[in-house]
Amino acid sequence: MLSKDYFVQVIRDLIVLAEDRKEYFTDLDSAIGDGDHGINLSIGFREVNKNIEDWKGLSVRDFYNKVGTALLDKVGGSSGPLYGSFFMKFGLPIKTKGPDEGATFEEFIAMMEKGVEIIKKRGKSTTGEKTMLDTFVPAVETLRKEYEGGTPAKEAMEKAVEAGKAGLESTRNIVATKGRAMRLGERAIGHLDPGAASAAEILEVFYKDMP
Ligand code: ADP
Ligand code: MG
Ligand code: MG
Repeated sequence: MLSKDYFVQVIRDLIVLAEDRKEYFTDLDSAIGDGDHGINLSIGFREVNKNIEDWKGLSVRDFYNKVGTALLDKVGGSSGPLYGSFFMKFGLPIKTKGPDEGATFEEFIAMMEKGVEIIKKRGKSTTGEKTMLDTFVPAVETLRKEYEGGTPAKEAMEKAVEAGKAGLESTRNIVATKGRAMRLGERAIGHLDPGAASAAEILEVFYKDMP
């Protein structure tokens, strides 16, 4: 079982992550994009930070919907709507809706899958295109496979994070077919995708905060 506090703590830690890693994500984006990925995440999560005390009494579903809406509304870049949609839909698979209720690990897996499905839909994208999906898709597939194969919850999430990091590394060798890096063609080879990098660190927060 993952508590309501867990889900709130993840967002608190993502607010910190967005500040701490602002420069790094922006540097990655400077190499193959327009150099604003870290700035975009920071703008979005600063807005979340302004409101988190007002939202933390909501159900997990509604709380994440507010977080996602803030990212979607405040961030201009493509990552704003994509991460925004991820968080907006994240809570939908939770069956219980009380303000103090968390989610089962089964539900958590479904939440991750729902988020990734929305990114694919909104981005009209899939794996192998040098995007955040190269991190998210293998991570979430691994999460389900490990858990269903009997791996304990937190360990399954650890394996998922590892798979996500391998996916992130794989973006070095991919020519982008989505996002701004597309324009670079072969010149994007050798560079990590910034969104895949932020996705890997976001997943790591979900892992580290797990009991
Ligand atoms: P922008 O490219 O508008 O400046 P950001 O720099 O914040 O936005 O985010 C760029 C990241 O967004 C990319 O590194 C990539 O991971 C992700 N991205 C861009 N387009 C798509 C898409 N169609 N599907 C999935 N992810 C995408
Ligand atoms: Mg950018
Ligand atoms: Mg931009």
